[in-house]
Amino acid sequence: MSKFSDSIKGFINKHFTQEITCTNCGKTGKTMFFSTLRDGHKICSSCKHTIPAEFEFKAKETSLDEFKELYAYMQNSINNLEPIFNATDEYSYGSFKVDAVHNLCKIGGSFVFEIEKIMSYDFVFKAEEFKDGIFSPKVKGDVYLTHLLLENPYARFNETTIKRGAKGKAEKRLLSSTVTYQNPAEMDEFLINFGYLVNKFEAEKKEKELQDLVEAKAQELLEKKLQETAASE
Ligand SMILES: [Zn+2]
Repeated sequence: MSKFSDSIKGFINKHFTQEITCTNCGKTGKTMFFSTLRDGHKICSSCKHTIPAEFEFKAKETSLDEFKELYAYMQNSINNLEPIFNATDEYSYGSFKVDAVHNLCKIGGSFVFEIEKIMSYDFVFKAEEFKDGIFSPKVKGDVYLTHLLLENPYARFNETTIKRGAKGKAEKRLLSSTVTYQNPAEMDEFLINFGYLVNKFEAEKKEKELQDLVEAKAQELLEKKLQETAASE
């Protein structure tokens, strides 16, 4: 038999017949349905697909510990957050839904996450350039969610379209070719409301940190005092 057909056979054996075990859930299956993590561990396709498509997730760049953290987070989202999620219309915009009662968000039909986990985000209006050299102060465009980062677990999102065909405004100075675009009014309104919710958590987090610091310091002083008293007795 030729070397070539041997290697083909080896490949077929490895991918179609060899059985391996998922490090995360313990399920066994064919190699071809598994992904390899950064540290060499193998995960099955159903575990991998628990990570939503919106996440900038690459198996080969993720360690087993990082994967387990994301996996646990998604299980919690599906089992505990999804059932209570109820979008508040005044706070939602396009496919970005906000539940201002439970302080949760959801992108389209995807998963639910807590507002307090948001580290950064940006909403961008990309207007269609005016066509055929005819300037109109009314423009249409799409609104994108970009730079969305979550903490605990750390998760980076891909850029996502939130709203298509949103109506914004364009401005052009006389005799100038530079056009500036204004966000759609309802987008600005959403940004103010949503920014308020995000900042509320930011302020609460800072206050908690300060409180913890004060308590730690008080504890330290108290222990010092007790030691001094014990030493003097
Ligand atoms: Zn698995």
